[in-house]
Amino acid sequence: MAFDIEMIKAVYEKYPSRISAARKAVGRSLTLTEKILYAHLTQGEPSKAFERGVSYVDFNPDRVAMQDATAQMALLQFMQAGRNQAAVPSTVHCDHLIQAEVGATADLNKAKDKNREVYDFLSSVSNKYGIGFWKPGAGIIHQVVLENYAFPGGMMIGTDSHTPNAGGLGMIAIGVGGADACDVMAGLPWELKFPKLIGVKLTGKLSGWTSAKDVILKVAGILTVKGGTGAVVEYFGDGARSLSATGKGTICNMGAEIGATTSIFGYDQKSEAYLRGTERGDMADMANEIKEHLTGDEEVYNHPEKYFDQVIEINLSELEPHINGPFTPDLAWPLSKFAAAVRENGWPAKLEVGLIGSCTNSSYEDISRAASLAKQAVDKKLIAKSEYTITPGSEQVRYTVDRDGFLDIFGQMGGVVLANACGPCIGQWARHGAEKQEKNSIITSFNRNFAKRADGNPNTHAFVASPEIVTALAIAGDLTFNPIKDTLTNEEGQQVKLEEPAGLELPTKGFAVEDAGYQAPATDGSKVEVIVDIKSERLQLLEPFKAWEGTDLKGLKLLIKAKGKCTTDHISMAGPWLRYRGHLDNISNNMLIGAVNAYNGETNKVKNQLSGEYGEVPAVQRQYKLHGVGSIVVGDENYGEGSSREHAAMEPRFLGVRAILVKSFARIHETNLKKQGMLALTFANASDYDLIQEDDSIDINGLTSFRPGLPLSVVLNHADGSKHEIQVNHTYNEGQIEWFKAGSALNLIKASV
Ligand code: SF4
Repeated sequence: MAFDIEMIKAVYEKYPSRISAARKAVGRSLTLTEKILYAHLTQGEPSKAFERGVSYVDFNPDRVAMQDATAQMALLQFMQAGRNQAAVPSTVHCDHLIQAEVGATADLNKAKDKNREVYDFLSSVSNKYGIGFWKPGAGIIHQVVLENYAFPGGMMIGTDSHTPNAGGLGMIAIGVGGADACDVMAGLPWELKFPKLIGVKLTGKLSGWTSAKDVILKVAGILTVKGGTGAVVEYFGDGARSLSATGKGTICNMGAEIGATTSIFGYDQKSEAYLRGTERGDMADMANEIKEHLTGDEEVYNHPEKYFDQVIEINLSELEPHINGPFTPDLAWPLSKFAAAVRENGWPAKLEVGLIGSCTNSSYEDISRAASLAKQAVDKKLIAKSEYTITPGSEQVRYTVDRDGFLDIFGQMGGVVLANACGPCIGQWARHGAEKQEKNSIITSFNRNFAKRADGNPNTHAFVASPEIVTALAIAGDLTFNPIKDTLTNEEGQQVKLEEPAGLELPTKGFAVEDAGYQAPATDGSKVEVIVDIKSERLQLLEPFKAWEGTDLKGLKLLIKAKGKCTTDHISMAGPWLRYRGHLDNISNNMLIGAVNAYNGETNKVKNQLSGEYGEVPAVQRQYKLHGVGSIVVGDENYGEGSSREHAAMEPRFLGVRAILVKSFARIHETNLKKQGMLALTFANASDYDLIQEDDSIDINGLTSFRPGLPLSVVLNHADGSKHEIQVNHTYNEGQIEWFKAGSALNLIKASV
C-alpha cells in the first residue's frame, strides 16, 4: 500500500513554476482551488480565458479510487483499452456490497459468500492491471483513501459521490462515472467544467458539544442541496486551521450533499499531524517544503469577496450543534430549536436507532468522543433506550479503537459493531420490521437521509447529526432530548446529566492494525487471469462495439419518443438493477423503462414497428437487434441529467440503438454517448420534436462528411408516405468523430497501443 512517494514528488516539483506561471497568466492572487487545478492542467499555461462555470478544461489527475459497485463496469471497460497497467495509481475498495444484519463478523462472512464472484473478479482484475485491492472488511473507500493515499495539493477522481472526503487533506477529489475512471487509467486526460468558487471563512474555535459535522450541517442549511452545484467550496480562516484533518474530511465528504463539485481545505499543522500520525512523515516533509503553494494566497483570504463567487462566514465559537432532516440533509435545525420542531411537525419523538460511523464520521476522534458519552452512560447507570450501532470506517480505525477499549465501552452500552463497510448508509441494512413501513425515527452520523435510503421504509424519518449528538440521543431514546440542558433518569431513579464529550484527534499510542486487508497487485500481471464465470448473472466480459459501417444510416425505427424528464435513472434504473452493474446484457433489460412514451403517456410501453404490437422497451429493442434493424431514441430537454453512470449510454449502444436525438443533452451523458460510439444529436429547431411520428422510419444523412460544426440532416419517413427533412446539430470535435468511426473511444484507445 505504498503511497507513491515518487509520484507525489513529481507533482510537487511542478508546483513552484506552475503556480508562478498561473499568477502571471491571470494577473492576480490565486485561491487554493485554482492552484491545484492549474498545477494539474494537461497542457499549456493557465489562461484568463478559463471562465468559471463555462469553460471545459483538460486535467491530469494523480489517482483513481473505485468502490466495488461502480468498479465493475469501470474495470470491464478498462480491460477493453488494451493497456497492461493502469496509467495512474488506482485502487478498488470492497465496501458497498456488505449488508448489515447481526454484527461485523457474521455479516462480513455472509457478504463474502454472496458476492464471491464479484470480489474474485475485482481482486483478479486489480492484480493483473497494477491496481491496489482493498478486500471486503478493509474499510470504506473514503476513509481508507484519507488514511493512505490523499495528499495535499493532489488531484484524484473516484467512482463515488463522496470522493471529496479527501479535500480534508487538501486534495481536489471529485466523484465521476466509471467511464471517466477508465479513461484516466488508460492515460487520457480528464475534462472538467472550470468550477465556480464558494469561499467559507471559518473564525473562532469549536467547543463543548459542537463538532466539525455541525459546520457542514450549517452550510447545508445555508446553501441547500442545490447551492453548491458546479462549484468548489474552499474553507479558510483561523477556524479552518483549528479543525482536525479528519474533521475537515467530514465537512468535505458531506459537501456532496449541497451538490458541490468538491470541497477543500488548505494544508496546515493539523494536516501535517495527521500525515505523521498515519505514518506518512516523508510526505509531510515534502509538503512543508512547498507549503505556501498548498493553501490560498494571503491576499485572497484577506479579501475573499474579490476572489470567490460567493462568501459565507461562520464563527465556530458561536456555532450550535445541528440536527438535519428528516428526508433531506439541508433541513438544518440548531439543537436548541429541534425539540420544538419535532413536536410541531409531528415527527415520531421516540428514537428507534442511533447509528454512528460511515465514511463521513468514523475517525479516531469521532469514535473517541462518542465513546466518552457511552462511558458516562455506563458509569451513571443509564441504559441506552435506542438500538445503537457503530460502523468503523476502516480496519485500522476499528483495530485501534478496539485496542484502546472504546468498542468494549460501546458494547457495555448495548451497542453493536457493524462491519467496516457502507451497510445502512447505502441501504444495505436488513432492518427487521422495516417492511411493515411504520412511521419511526432514526438518527445517524451519515451524510444522506433521503426517504428509503437506510432501510427502504419510506416512513423512516432519518435525521443527521454528529456522532456525539447521535450517541446522546440514543442514550435518551428521545429525539426531543437536548443534552446541553436536559437531564435523564438513571436505573436508580436519579436525575443525571451528560457532560460534554471529550476525545483525541489522534491515538496517543499511534494507529495499529494486524491485517489492513490490502492486496498489492502483481509486479508482472501479464500471466494473471481475470476471473469471470461465463455463467455468471452479475458479470460479463465486454465485447468491443462494432466500428461505423462507413455509410449514412437508413431506415432506423423509432424506438421511443420520450416526453419530459428523462434522467439517467429513467434510462438505467438503480434499485434491484444494481446487482447487474457488471453484466451489460442483463442490466440492459432496464433500458429506458422509466422513460415516458410521448404517444401514450405510459412508461415501458412502446410500439414494435415490426409486429405492430406494444411491448416493453428493452424487449422491443431486442427484436430490432435480432432482425438487424437499427433504431433511434428521441428525447426532450436536458436528456440524461442526473448521475453520470455510463450504463445509460452503454445499454442503448449494446442493444443496437444508433442515435439519440433530443432537444438538449445533459453534457456528461452526451459525452458518455460519444464515448460509446453513439450519435448524440440535437434538433436545430426544438419544435421539430413534434414532427416525429410513432411509426417513423428515420434516415441520418451527412455522416460520410461528418465534421465538427457541420449539421447533419435527418429524414423522417412517415407511415403515410410523406416525409420531413430536418436539420440536426452535434458537438463532436475531431477526436470524438474518430470515436464514432472506430465504434467507441475504447476501440480507438486500444488501436493506439
Ligand atoms: S459509507 Fe455511505 S456515503 Fe460513505 S461511501 Fe459508503 S454509501 Fe457512500
